Amino acid sequence: MYRIGQGYDLHATTEGNSIYLGGVKIPAPFGLRAHSDGDVLIHAIIDALLGASGGPDIGTLYPDTDQKFKDCNSCDLLIETFELITQRGFKIVNIDSTIIAQSPKLMDYKLPIAQNLARILSLDINTICIKAKTNEKVDAIGQKKAIAVQAVVLLKVSSTK
Ligand code: ZN
Repeated sequence: MYRIGQGYDLHATTEGNSIYLGGVKIPAPFGLRAHSDGDVLIHAIIDALLGASGGPDIGTLYPDTDQKFKDCNSCDLLIETFELITQRGFKIVNIDSTIIAQSPKLMDYKLPIAQNLARILSLDINTICIKAKTNEKVDAIGQKKAIAVQAVVLLKVSSTK
């Protein structure tokens, strides 16, 4: 049996000089406003994983009102989520994602991000796809006021459950 999950996240930009995407620190002309480290990619992937495995959503599981998650490393939340879906008997088949950012240029970071996520989730690099595009200078994302991510995952019920 297979289950599909979809995740979306957006963070507004703020003063700063770097952002985190997939646990990789990337120089940028801004930072991302967030209670956590603002890793918009990991947040979208977590929501997709939770969605596919029966919920709840990331805001319910890791509420931003909880001081425990202030300035947290989103990689830790991804590991926790991975352990949760593993306990539920699921294996990740693949992860696909699209980062929508007018800036910074992400071409050189797509592979390091995929490699980092593959390491965290013990997955083959070929099962993780990181795509990046601009918003053609249109709307808030195009004007560098925010970065958004869409993610989709496919889970398989593990035979070793
Ligand atoms: Zn987020």
